[in-house]
Amino acid sequence: MITTKLWISNRWVEADRTVELRNPHTKELLAHIGYASPEQAAKAIEAAADAFASFRTLQAYERAQILSRAADILLSRREEAAELIVKEAAKPIQAARAELDRTIVTYRFAADAAKQLSSETVQMDAAPRGENRHAYMRRQPIGVVSAITPFNFPFNLVAHKVGPAIAGGNTIVLKPAEKTPLSALFLAEVFKEAGLPAGVLQIIPGDGRELSDVLTRHNQVSYVTFTGSPRVGKVIRANAGLRKVTLELGSNSPLLIDEGFSEKELQWIAEQSAVGAFTYNGQVCISIQRIYVHSSLYESFVRRLTEKANQLRIGDPMDEETDITALIDTNACNRLEQWVSEAKQAGANIRCGGTFMGQIMQPTVLTDVPSSANIHCEEVFGPVVTITSFDSWEEAIRLANDSKYGLNAGAFTKNIEHAFAAVEQLESGAVLINDIPTFRLDHMPYGGVKQSGVGREGIRYAMEEMTELKLVSFRTK
Ligand code: NAD
Repeated sequence: MITTKLWISNRWVEADRTVELRNPHTKELLAHIGYASPEQAAKAIEAAADAFASFRTLQAYERAQILSRAADILLSRREEAAELIVKEAAKPIQAARAELDRTIVTYRFAADAAKQLSSETVQMDAAPRGENRHAYMRRQPIGVVSAITPFNFPFNLVAHKVGPAIAGGNTIVLKPAEKTPLSALFLAEVFKEAGLPAGVLQIIPGDGRELSDVLTRHNQVSYVTFTGSPRVGKVIRANAGLRKVTLELGSNSPLLIDEGFSEKELQWIAEQSAVGAFTYNGQVCISIQRIYVHSSLYESFVRRLTEKANQLRIGDPMDEETDITALIDTNACNRLEQWVSEAKQAGANIRCGGTFMGQIMQPTVLTDVPSSANIHCEEVFGPVVTITSFDSWEEAIRLANDSKYGLNAGAFTKNIEHAFAAVEQLESGAVLINDIPTFRLDHMPYGGVKQSGVGREGIRYAMEEMTELKLVSFRTK
């Protein structure tokens, strides 16, 4: 049985205490995880601050080389890394491999971005008194980046912070989710082998609440980047003071389905919807949670999605055929069980699922759900989708916007005016026409409005958040 340590200045440091980590599917004990104390987290931040002075002088092409070597090493260890995700997150192996493939792409994009830190010239003679001055903007690294990540994409969401931070010339303290520390710790040796200098990347598993203050308020932390729940996002925003923050939070993503689709087309949309709603048990921030279907197609769509949900294979995440696995923990089961039961009491119809086998929840389709029910208006983060009918596109957009969240929204329509209305009016960070809201490529700008977040990720955009703009002006006379 392994006991993990903290990764500080390219060395393993014993933690002050350990906590058991178990496989959510088998309950097998995976490791004793060393948890950083607030004092150890402060030491990690100080190590990052010390390393910053020399790392910022590394040339862009050298930072790019490190990032591409890290991508190469991950590629050579893809299966080992994917199995780690399966063990600690109960993600089906196929999805875990897909995450690794995306992670490798993310680091390659970061390597490219390191060489593209460009910015504009400023036309000084556009204003009186500007003559004889020539100016341009320069991007400089921000300093120590404090990165806090969730459990659901333990490699790729870490890559979305570590990649752009290194690309921009910053040093990092990474606090991974309690549920998935092994995936983060795996990166220690990867980046050491890739040639990352000591002190650039610290990895300190620990209790988020215990480390919250030090990670967000330490005077040597220049920037906080967080991906996780809106509840914690609010705490971080309140703590960070005048520091820059990026918050990538949750959602209850809507999908709109207009009239005018043939039965064959509707079948394809239902299949896409099942992928968007049930992949990794719906534990995806842009998982489809609310589907709005034109009344002319409503019953047919409900039947098709229910059929598809019933065909999903439930079981062992190591099995190549498995779609649905154990939820991350029993808290998630309790929340979902309660919300489904509340909705049922309020008149909802359970078209399929709604039941549990241990920690596994069957894919669940609900109709006739009151819009005030938690299962509809809060973030579900489970394999549950609600379907509501509408009679006009205006109504569909209004219903979709009736949410405190706004990450991605999807809309299937053949009507160009409806498509543009959706683009214009849907309150979200992204609108995907004729696609599910769950679609994401790693270089896309990505982030939310309303309670879904602040700022944007997607390598180049994250790198802009992690660098400071400085104006440089030359006076010639
Ligand atoms: P979570 O908010 O419970 O935990 C995320 C991280 O925050 C963990 O590392 C945790 O230790 C830390 N944390 C907990 N309390 C803290 C505190 N008081 N101060 C500082 N850090 C603290 O989220 P989770 O359950 O791991 O992940 C699920 C959530 O993440 C969902 O809401 C999901 O939508 C969101 N998410 C968002 C995106 C996105 O890109 N927008 C992507 C993936 C997941």
